[in-house]
Amino acid sequence: MFFKYTDFTDGLHQIQLKKSVTDLDIGMPFVGDVIVNCNIDKSVRQIVLHCEAECNAEFTCDRCNDKYEETLIVEFTLIKVFNSNNVDPNDSSVEYHPPEVAKVDISKDLKEFMSLSVPMKKLCSEDCKGLCVHCGANLNYEKCNCELNAANEFEKS
Ligand SMILES: [Zn+2]
Ligand SMILES: [Zn+2]
Repeated sequence: MFFKYTDFTDGLHQIQLKKSVTDLDIGMPFVGDVIVNCNIDKSVRQIVLHCEAECNAEFTCDRCNDKYEETLIVEFTLIKVFNSNNVDPNDSSVEYHPPEVAKVDISKDLKEFMSLSVPMKKLCSEDCKGLCVHCGANLNYEKCNCELNAANEFEKS
C-alpha cells in the first residue's frame, strides 16, 4: 500500500488507500479490505502521515465460543524524513526516506500496527453470558435448568 509523495505539493493533503488483506499479506483475524484514511503533511524536510486504518476482523468469543466480527480501527503516525541525520533513534515512528524515491510504502507499518490492535480479550459483547459450566448450553440463546436442578439437589439433602 503506497502513494507517490511527488504527486503532492507541500502542505496538507488527504488520501484514502484501500487494499485487501490478502494483497497486503495480513493474516487472520483480519478479513476483507483495509481502508486507510491518511492525512499527509508534506514539507521540504519531511512527510508526516496521520493514518486511520479500518478493517474487519473475525474472532471467537472467549466466553461462549461463538464467532463474531468486529471492525477494528487503528491510528498511527509516521514521519518520513528526507535527511538521514534527522532520524531519531529513540523514536521508531521517524524513518529515513530517500528523497529520490517517490514511492512511500506504508504496508510494513500498517501490518505492524494492525497486529498490535488485536485485543487480548475477545468478547462477542460486553455482557456475553457465556456457556453453562454444567451442560455447555450457550446462555445467550437458551436457559438451562442446571442451576435450578443444583438448587433442588441441595434442598433434598
Ligand atoms: Zn460470547
Ligand atoms: Zn446448564
